[in-house]
Amino acid sequence: MSTTEEPPNDPLQQSNAYASFADIEVICPVCSHSFLNLNSLNVHLDKDHGFSSEAIKEPTNSNKTASDHLLSKHGSNIKSNTSGILPNKGSKSNPNKQFITHKHFKQPLDGKPKCYKCNTTITNHSNLINCNKCGEIFCKRDCKNVIKLDKNAKYDPRSGKFYLCCNNCFTSKTGYKDMGRTVDLTGDFTQFRNLMIGDKMLTTLQLENRLVKLIDGSITIYRKYKDSLFFAVKVRLEIAKLESSVTPWKYDYNVSDCYICLQPFNITNRKHHCRLCGNIVCEKETTNCSNNVTIETLMNASSDLSYKETNLTSEEADQHIRVCSRCIHSLFIPRKFKQESNNPPPLLIKLLEKLNDIASVIINTLPIFKERVKIIELGDKDPSITKDENLIKVAQLRNKLLRAFALYNDTSRQINLLKPQTLEETKIQNSIKQVSTKFITDNILPLKSLPGIFTDATNNTNNSPPELNSLTEVTFNNNLTIKEVKQYREELMVLKEQSFLVQGMIDTAKKQRQFEEVGSLNKNLSELKTRESHIEKLLGDKSFT
Ligand SMILES: [Zn+2]
Ligand SMILES: [Zn+2]
Ligand SMILES: [Zn+2]
Ligand SMILES: [Zn+2]
Ligand SMILES: [Zn+2]
Repeated sequence: MSTTEEPPNDPLQQSNAYASFADIEVICPVCSHSFLNLNSLNVHLDKDHGFSSEAIKEPTNSNKTASDHLLSKHGSNIKSNTSGILPNKGSKSNPNKQFITHKHFKQPLDGKPKCYKCNTTITNHSNLINCNKCGEIFCKRDCKNVIKLDKNAKYDPRSGKFYLCCNNCFTSKTGYKDMGRTVDLTGDFTQFRNLMIGDKMLTTLQLENRLVKLIDGSITIYRKYKDSLFFAVKVRLEIAKLESSVTPWKYDYNVSDCYICLQPFNITNRKHHCRLCGNIVCEKETTNCSNNVTIETLMNASSDLSYKETNLTSEEADQHIRVCSRCIHSLFIPRKFKQESNNPPPLLIKLLEKLNDIASVIINTLPIFKERVKIIELGDKDPSITKDENLIKVAQLRNKLLRAFALYNDTSRQINLLKPQTLEETKIQNSIKQVSTKFITDNILPLKSLPGIFTDATNNTNNSPPELNSLTEVTFNNNLTIKEVKQYREELMVLKEQSFLVQGMIDTAKKQRQFEEVGSLNKNLSELKTRESHIEKLLGDKSFT
């Protein structure tokens, strides 16, 4: 016996199911008329909105034309659904339905109607239609738009009915926009925004007012009971009284979660009231929703507010007030920003910015440099550049990099020489020291190994047989073009600058007793000198030195 169930084989049942599905009311997306089923909507879309080109060719009853109208003119009854009014199939008939007058409909001349737009003669009368708005005669293809008109064919977007119209009438209706309707909400938005800004300002002013009252009041209370026997008790009581008079506290009996981080309160996560806004918040270290902030800190951060007392004893300044992170944000962040924008950044930050700028020059130049070196090493030829030109380019890039490194080194030294004002500055200084040292050692390597290329070039000429060598030199000496002389001079200049820089680096390294460094730099220097003398030889009396 088969376990699979047979599909229902009852045709009646199936058709019922289909009928119930198809009978859901559907709405035309174009004109919003409702239809009893999808099929009638499809027919409507095809016929009345021209979704199917077939609909144009097929004769139809729903859109009667001027000629039809002409025929029925002498008849006593004008049928419903004449002249392109969209059929209201399926929807309940409207007792107040008014149909547009046809007085303005143009009649075809000599029985040879021509489309007002495309000017073709319309032979098939079922392809002829009057624009309900302007009344001109069109072929169906040129009269597909829908527009809401009253019975006098005036545009009436509110209570008019949908009629077919020509493209011209459609696009010239008031408020028409190619990309649909636009509504300017800028005014509303500005109003809303101003309201919000106003609210925020008011809240901030209120918080400032409370802060001043709390701090002034606390100091008064503190001074009043300073010498009292029951100082602690008295102050606590009075402060509580002050706090409740300044800020209305939120009731906490039905509050289960922190106002800011929304984490539930329990035995370990206790409720606290922010003394400024009165909301109930936690004091988790992870979320920092509220903190006990000393009066001193609060006053320093808001020194522009007018406090009664500014000369506080250390005990007075050490009292604290619980403030939530939102209040801190709305009270102190804007102040901090204002302060920082008024005061120029400290020298340390300026130098750090300079250091970063130089580093980005190095980082951007290095890959280009490496690429050029690779071309030389592989013996690849950029067809537009000769080997010597390439060497000069490499030398120029190398010079640029060496200068950048020297500047970088100098700037980081300047930073290290600064006297730090705060602990943070010391930390920043130390990390700059580490980072800059690492940056130099990481990136300067390709520069150190480079002079090999120059010596290679020199060695190549040296390795060739002496007579050939001298011969080429003679030829060179006699046949140097102006361009070549210029190029060699340029390279020579770069080499001399490099030697100078390397010499400087050797001196610094010697002073800092980095003898390993001195060794490799000395090697570089001698390589540079070799190349220099080679070029000087090439240039002969054309050398400018
Ligand atoms: Zn429609
Ligand atoms: Zn046409
Ligand atoms: Zn029209
Ligand atoms: Zn919290
Ligand atoms: Zn608060």
